[in-house]
Amino acid sequence: MKNIIQKYLEKLFYINRSITGKGNRQTLKILKEIVPLNIKEIKSGKKVYDWTIPKEWNIRDAFIKDKDGNKLISFKENNLHVISYSKSINKTMNWHSLKKNLFFSKVSKDAIPYRTTYYNDSWGFCVSRRQYEMIEKAKGPYKVVISSSLINGSLTYGDYVIKGKSKKEILISTYICHPSMANDCLSGLILTAFLARSLSKKRNKWTYRFVFVPETIGAIAYCSLNKKKIQNTLAGMVITTVGGPGKFGYKQSWQSEHQINTDIEKIFKQRKVDYIKYPFSIRGSDERQYSSQAFKLNMATITKDKYFEYKEYHTSLDNLNFVNGKNIYKSLNIYKALLNQIDSWKIFQSKMPYCEHMMSKHNLYPKTGGLYRMSNVGLTQLDIVQWILHLSDGMKTIDSIAAQLKVSKATILKLSKILKRKKILIEL
Ligand code: ZN
Repeated sequence: MKNIIQKYLEKLFYINRSITGKGNRQTLKILKEIVPLNIKEIKSGKKVYDWTIPKEWNIRDAFIKDKDGNKLISFKENNLHVISYSKSINKTMNWHSLKKNLFFSKVSKDAIPYRTTYYNDSWGFCVSRRQYEMIEKAKGPYKVVISSSLINGSLTYGDYVIKGKSKKEILISTYICHPSMANDCLSGLILTAFLARSLSKKRNKWTYRFVFVPETIGAIAYCSLNKKKIQNTLAGMVITTVGGPGKFGYKQSWQSEHQINTDIEKIFKQRKVDYIKYPFSIRGSDERQYSSQAFKLNMATITKDKYFEYKEYHTSLDNLNFVNGKNIYKSLNIYKALLNQIDSWKIFQSKMPYCEHMMSKHNLYPKTGGLYRMSNVGLTQLDIVQWILHLSDGMKTIDSIAAQLKVSKATILKLSKILKRKKILIEL
């Protein structure tokens, strides 16, 4: 398996991806070898909530040449050299003009940074500090060419749904929009494809929705086109940066006490894996969309060298020396264990969410009412039943109800089943 993952890393690494374009189609087509994704297109100009699907960007070539025609920088050598969504340009210019459109990274002399200009009419080259100095010393004026196109086309994305016994869904989302960087985002999309493949071979309780979209705009578009499905989701994962040599980590979903966070920690502890815990933050990936007010999904992320946190991040040093199939495979196993755990969640839902049930009608109330209990004697069975009715909203697991009430899981399960027999609760 490690070797197959490695093969896909090498196959997909050199493809130029962005938020739209041929490279994304090619990437999804290759991932189809792993799992039968549906590849779909959304036309440029379509409104998705507060956003509009942009024009489609493609690039054929780009270079900077010195006065004698020697190529100083070539897009064909590294697709990070051109800022994503750079407009077409064909000009001769001096150092003073050129340097305004050159960007380098402060991380290391050899790192080419990753930059984008999706929503600005602009262009630029990204180079290493070493290359920047080399261009400055070269003989000008320089010939600067970017052969790119920005036309009314479409945004490409993929999805794959594995139906379970329940219609309730678990959402697994990854982004496909970064060019040649191995941890961010290639490792995430390869892992997600293999995770989908392994789940497709099992009989699952929940329905699993795998989404491969360009970050931000793609996730927003997906939510907009699949509003009902997203609102039918129990929780999920945003998968990214899973293949580095460093420590495992996880970014919590927005409710830190949510079952998904508890389960991730449990899996790390069971496997004696040392990990870093990152609290939820609105800086991050597509959990920003899935956890927005209308959806409020609990989306967590397990990482191995989390984005923002490693020095190679968003540079050409995030490459195939930094990431390998073996590390992605380790992360894949953690994700598989987590989905196993999620698939065992027991969740009940009140059949009558409007106000309280009339307990006596269901034979759940003592014959003489009005008897208040002292709080220091703990919860009575009636209290627990009322708490279960209060908390069983079709989202909360019996484990998290048990943890909240500090009552054993067995008791919660037993009482929930009684309520199910009385047709007050349904089990999802
Ligand atoms: Zn990124």
